[in-house]
Amino acid sequence: MSTTKAYAAQTATTPLAPWNLERRMPTPYDVQIDILYCGVCHSDLHTVRNEWGGTVYPAVPGHEIVGRVTSIGSHVTKYKEGDLAAVGCLVDSCRECNNCKKGLEQYCLNGSVGTYNGKDKHSGGVTYGGYSKRIVVHEDFVLRVTDKSPLEGIAPLLCAGITTYSPLRHWKVGKGDKVGILGLGGLGHMGVKLAASFGAEVTMLSHSPSKEADAKKLGAHNFLLTKDESQLKKMKGYFDFILDTVSAPHEYNTYLDMLSTNGAMVCVGAPTTPSQVYAFNLIMNRKTLAGSLIGGIPETQEMLDYCAANNIVSDVEVIDIKDINKSYERMLKGDVKYRFVIDMATL
Ligand code: NAP
Ligand code: ZN
Ligand code: ZN
Repeated sequence: MSTTKAYAAQTATTPLAPWNLERRMPTPYDVQIDILYCGVCHSDLHTVRNEWGGTVYPAVPGHEIVGRVTSIGSHVTKYKEGDLAAVGCLVDSCRECNNCKKGLEQYCLNGSVGTYNGKDKHSGGVTYGGYSKRIVVHEDFVLRVTDKSPLEGIAPLLCAGITTYSPLRHWKVGKGDKVGILGLGGLGHMGVKLAASFGAEVTMLSHSPSKEADAKKLGAHNFLLTKDESQLKKMKGYFDFILDTVSAPHEYNTYLDMLSTNGAMVCVGAPTTPSQVYAFNLIMNRKTLAGSLIGGIPETQEMLDYCAANNIVSDVEVIDIKDINKSYERMLKGDVKYRFVIDMATL
C-alpha cells in the first residue's frame, strides 16, 4: 500500500478537508497515475452530502481525472510510464455480462464499480476518487487523452462530456433535429457544445437570464427563459429531443409538453426527490421519457477522440483544492463558468 494525500468528507455535514488514504501497489494489470487535474461534478456534492443515500465515509469524490502514468504493472500493454491518461466514473466491472461485452460497463449486470464510493474488490472497502494525488486503476478502465488540448479543459469530458455525448448519440441527434438542453451547468454546457457540433439546432432552456450570452457563445442558436410561462407556451410541440441536466427538483410535465410527435426527453440530471408525470403527456404524440447513465469505456474513448479531433474542451475555472468547499456553495448558486477543475498541484 502507499499513502496518498487526499481531501475527504468525514460526515455528510462536515466540509471536505485533508486526509491520507491508502492506495494499492499496482497489480500486474494496473496503471498508477499522478493526478494533475480533477473536475468537480455536481454528483460529488450529492455524494459528499449523502443526498442520494448510501455514502460511505470518509468519502473522497472526483471522477473527472487526468494525469500522467508513473508506474505500470508487469502485464500492462496499453500504457507506459510518462503517458498522459485519464480516469472517468468507472474503475471496474465484471467484463463478462451481456452489457459489459457490449461496452456498456456502466450498466454491468453484476454491478459496475464507481471511481468513488464504489465497492473496492482489492481493499474490501470503498473506492476513493480523484480529489487525491494518485490513483491506481486496471488498464481496461484507463483512457487516452490528447496532448494537443489543455488538460484542465479535458478533465470534465470524463463525466460531463460522456454523460451528454452518450444520449445524444444513442438517440441519433444530428442535422435537422431541434434539441433543447435544459440547465446550463457542467453537463449542460457540454450538451450545448456537442449537440451543436453534431449539427442540431440547439435551444438553451435555462432559469438564469444572465446565461443567455454565454449560451450563444457555447453554440446555442436560441435561448429560452424557463421562468417565463409565455415563452414556454410558444414552444409547445417544438423539440425532437430534450436533454435534462438539472440537478434540483423540477417539473417534467412542462418540458414533455414541448416535445414533438415521437420526441424524447432524456434525464441525466439526478434530483434527490421524485417528479410526477402525467401519462397523457406521454400518450399524446407518442413521447418518450428516458434516462441515461454516463457512458461505457469504448464510448468514452470515442467521445475523447471526437472532442480532440474537433477541438472541443470544457470551459473551466481552475481552483486550489483548499477552495473546494467554497466552490460547492458557488456551484449550488449556479456561479460557475462552467466547471470547476482542481489543480492537484495545490494539494
Ligand atoms: P451543475 O453544474 O450544478 O448544473 C446544474 C444546472 O441545473 C444549473 O447550472 C442550473 O442551470 C440548473 N439548476 C440548478 N438549480 C436549479 C433550480 N433550482 N431550478 C432549475 N434549474 C436549476 O451540475 P452538473 O455537474 O452539470 O450536474 C447536473 C446533474 O446531473 C446533477 O444532478 C448530477 O448529479 C447529475 N449527473 C448525472 C450523471 C448521469 O450519468 N446521469 C452524470 C453526471 C452528473 P440554469 O441556471 O441554466 O437553469
Ligand atoms: Zn460526474
Ligand atoms: Zn458486467
